[in-house]
Amino acid sequence: MAKQDFYEVLGISKSASKAEIKKAYRKMAIKYHPDKNPDDKVAEENFKKAAEAYEVLSDENKKARYDQYGHAAFDGPQGGGFGGGGMNMDDIFSQFGDIFGGGGFGGGFGGFGGGGQRQARVKGSNMRIRVKLTLEEIAKGIEKKVKVRRKVQANGVTYKTCTTCNGSGQQMRVTNTILGRMQTATTCGMCSGAGEIMNSKPNGADAQGLIIEEETVSINIPAGVTEGVQLKVGGKGNEAPGKNSIAGDLLVLIEEIPHETLKREGTNIHYDLYVNFSEAVLGTSKEVETVTGKVKIKIEAGTQSGKILRLKGKGLPSIERYGTGDFLIHINVWTPQELNKEQRQFFEKMSENENFVPNPNKSDKSFFEKVKDMFS
Ligand SMILES: [Zn+2]
Repeated sequence: MAKQDFYEVLGISKSASKAEIKKAYRKMAIKYHPDKNPDDKVAEENFKKAAEAYEVLSDENKKARYDQYGHAAFDGPQGGGFGGGGMNMDDIFSQFGDIFGGGGFGGGFGGFGGGGQRQARVKGSNMRIRVKLTLEEIAKGIEKKVKVRRKVQANGVTYKTCTTCNGSGQQMRVTNTILGRMQTATTCGMCSGAGEIMNSKPNGADAQGLIIEEETVSINIPAGVTEGVQLKVGGKGNEAPGKNSIAGDLLVLIEEIPHETLKREGTNIHYDLYVNFSEAVLGTSKEVETVTGKVKIKIEAGTQSGKILRLKGKGLPSIERYGTGDFLIHINVWTPQELNKEQRQFFEKMSENENFVPNPNKSDKSFFEKVKDMFS
């Protein structure tokens, strides 16, 4: 398969400066970083490709060779380094020291990038669960306890120093290239960089010394979450083998259970209230169930169908903590569909009455104006 041009990989021109090359690679490395794209093979490929391109273009000698001979400069029996196999992940992470300036990069991406001699901290895999919430739960925020079956290190597993790398977690590899002898550090293949290997494990543990255990994890769900939001409970995913390993995370996907009578629109909640004809004419009071409890509201005499009552701050809190939405009550006047003889006579008589003639005054907003108001 023909290799993609290194300049193309980084999306830069052949005349790009050293700073531009670095900047382009930094962007790629962040975009395709495996921590941000778990289990995404394409992203991993792009991540490696970008690293390979940067490895060459950031080095004046290699860049000059590449500009003259293209990929052929590093192919063939003398190629070594990055001919066929490309770079492995550890080589890539060891570049990060100069790309991201020392340890600054460490926090965001799980402790990589310290630079120099270090043992890889193996991280366990993440686990994913879904949590279904009612609108009422979303309104208040809630602590949910869920049972998860996660891999944990079995009691009684013992470790010994890896004899292949003597505990350093790295193996030095010397290759001869047309650019000279190159020494690169690669992750120890025996211990995956941990510096230690399992010595003994109890019965029931898997090949990595792990067993599956059921655990109740409590998840603090903040008020105002929305469908599709993903929360992270650090360290409650699967554990990884080894004394220095860290556990993966538990990723919690929020699902919203549709409410029977309430409709959510961002932080606002809409509710259809039906009043009968007499109530609309004479006025009344009604009890309405909001997400935070019952509220008594007054329906004025002569209330028109379509009127919207706004209960300020009775909606949902914003997850970004910019205040709380409103609870909007849409008044629907129920027109009777069946009448007895007496009622029919009454309404027939009233039909001609001046009080029954529609007469919207200027202060009564039209339906369209109300909709406009609602979204402004
Ligand atoms: Zn080793």
